[in-house]
Amino acid sequence: MSDYFNVADIFGENVFNDTVMRERLPKNVYKNLKLAMSGEKELVLADADVIANAMKDWAIEKGATHYSHWFQPLTGTTAEKQDSFLSAPNTSGKVLMEFSGKELIKGEPDASSFPSGGLRATFEARGYTAWDCTSPAFVREDATGATLCIPTAFCSYTGEALDQKTPLLRSMDAINEQALRVVRLFGNTTAKKVTPSVGVEQEYFLIDRDLYLKRKDLIFSRRTLFGAMPPKGQELDDHYFGAIRERIGAFMKDINKELWRLGVTAKTQHNEVAPAQHELAPIYAQCNIATDNNQLTMEVLKKVAYRHNLACLLHEKPFAGVNGSGKHNNWSLTTDDGMNMLDPGNTPHQNIQFLLVLGAVMKAVDRHANLLRESAANVGNDHRLGANEAPPAIISIFLGEQLEDVIMQLIDRGDATSSIQKGKLKTGASTLPDFNKDATDRNRTSPFAFTGNKFEFRMVGSSDSVAPANVVLNTIVAESFKEICDELENAPNFDMACHDMIKRLFTDHHRIVFNGNGYSDEWVEEAEARGLANIKSMVDSTPTLISPETVTLFETFGVYTKAELLSRAEIKYEAYSKAINIEARAMIDIAGKQIIPAVISYTTELANSYLAVSEAGCDASTQKEILDKVSALLRETKSALTKLQTVTATASAMNSGREQALYFRDEVTTAMTALRTPADELEMLVDKEYWPFPSYGDMLFEV
Ligand code: ADP
Ligand code: MG
Repeated sequence: MSDYFNVADIFGENVFNDTVMRERLPKNVYKNLKLAMSGEKELVLADADVIANAMKDWAIEKGATHYSHWFQPLTGTTAEKQDSFLSAPNTSGKVLMEFSGKELIKGEPDASSFPSGGLRATFEARGYTAWDCTSPAFVREDATGATLCIPTAFCSYTGEALDQKTPLLRSMDAINEQALRVVRLFGNTTAKKVTPSVGVEQEYFLIDRDLYLKRKDLIFSRRTLFGAMPPKGQELDDHYFGAIRERIGAFMKDINKELWRLGVTAKTQHNEVAPAQHELAPIYAQCNIATDNNQLTMEVLKKVAYRHNLACLLHEKPFAGVNGSGKHNNWSLTTDDGMNMLDPGNTPHQNIQFLLVLGAVMKAVDRHANLLRESAANVGNDHRLGANEAPPAIISIFLGEQLEDVIMQLIDRGDATSSIQKGKLKTGASTLPDFNKDATDRNRTSPFAFTGNKFEFRMVGSSDSVAPANVVLNTIVAESFKEICDELENAPNFDMACHDMIKRLFTDHHRIVFNGNGYSDEWVEEAEARGLANIKSMVDSTPTLISPETVTLFETFGVYTKAELLSRAEIKYEAYSKAINIEARAMIDIAGKQIIPAVISYTTELANSYLAVSEAGCDASTQKEILDKVSALLRETKSALTKLQTVTATASAMNSGREQALYFRDEVTTAMTALRTPADELEMLVDKEYWPFPSYGDMLFEV
């Protein structure tokens, strides 16, 4: 094949990675950079100048003309300002390509138009981007040409975090410090660093771009606001892991190639449950890099889709009635001497450190369940969490049979003496090998599942950043670790104190463990009886961000200040209101300018047909019946439209904040549903020739 490529050759070719640094930097500068990356020494400007120059030369060889500080403001996406390497022409009219250490380390984008939740008054709209030297710079190629992208954090003039990355890096420091104390308790003296490892599974939809362009709802609000269910839904389950169609295959091939060149370890790909839904997962990496890579993946998905005349939908619920999309955030803790603190080994009952870590995670999740829930709250996710779809909005932990058994031994008898072992799976065919089974089956319905040697947090929305979820996980577990270490470090008899501690953690927090079917109604009831919260909407979960416990937690570990949390809550309310406002206005536009006129045309044809047929002396009762029904629904649509216009106008006129968000949720989304219902019924009745945009069936099955 002509477009053959060798993965090993292209992997990371657009990344300023360790190999490139070693090749291009003087030994001492390389060493200093490494020290800066491990947080041991600050980078001096002279070194930064050398690094910047090497980066520039390398990027220019790859065709780069610009550089940009690439950051993640609180809009959910990435932002950047591109500067060219060009310097002012000299006296002979020649230009030089320049890039200084100062420009590498610090950028100054105009911050006034990014959400700050009142942290930064517009008159002092100064914001700074600061190089995150632990996440590698890369050259991105697209229609604008090649650009050297430098992953950065984004802060205000007074040092408050205005982005996702700053608190994430702070939370990594917090867990590093506390997790090191834990491994020291067990005699590890070699580990110098503990890092959260994260692997993000990303779900998305692909539809034909020509169809996409005919849907104003998708264009404006990234989800369909109207649309009746197609005759075939996902009831056949024939899409999940189904054969990948040619057109999608070509897309995936390009995605992989593009991501590999950018150093993203795209590893698995498959069709998901819903028609036109797919998933991609990379190999896990250090938390902040995994977060950056996931943002990059979302960008690349959209761009490559465009090249294939496809549209990639990252919204959590692009199609009502069809499975939505999420992100699974796989999380574990890795020491720099190669240990995974969440690896139970074959005999977890003997692995005391693991049991202690497990107890610490149970405590953290039980105590801060609402905060973890909040970290996955965004507007789109309201259609998944707590709506008619999984995972439910109740936080619980799945541990599986083996660990549950160990825990129960400890709780009931005070001692754990055995671990259920994995069995052999008999295939029953002589030519097939028998397998070793995992000790525990999977549970797909749990929002927080232990899966072998990591926890998988499955609530995050498909379009969202995984940063907030990891900020919370890192910090709440750091807090548990701290409390445990404060006690155990001073215990006269460590073994006994540790044993008691584990038993206490399991006993006190066992209520958060649930191994059954998280999608069942019984679980909702049982969870309530256990006192576990079920927070069904983003607006209801936001107050947790600023509760006294949250503020204390984050301030203790230097992850957020109270002011930063207040601003984040403001931003969330505002983001919610803005998104619903856009959706409501898009519906008003579509109903008023597309649906109602189309239905009027159709009723005219029906009326003409009815008259003509009656005049001919024939039975026109069917025409009459349809005409009556369509006219009634048309009337209902029109009055629902008027109502939506009224409440949307009222909502927009309110001051931004919690009140406004609540009004949008309670009044506006209700009015939106009331408009959608008759309109979707009309779609089923009106001649397809008249319907103004592609149907669900067209979009989901014509890829
Ligand atoms: P599944 O769909 O069965 O959950 P996938 O292979 O699609 O599995 O995704 C699993 C994700 O978990 C991958 O991104 C993988 O790299 C990541 N992962 C595996 N081990 C760890 C670990 N120890 N810590 C964090 N992430 C991990
Ligand atoms: Mg998974």
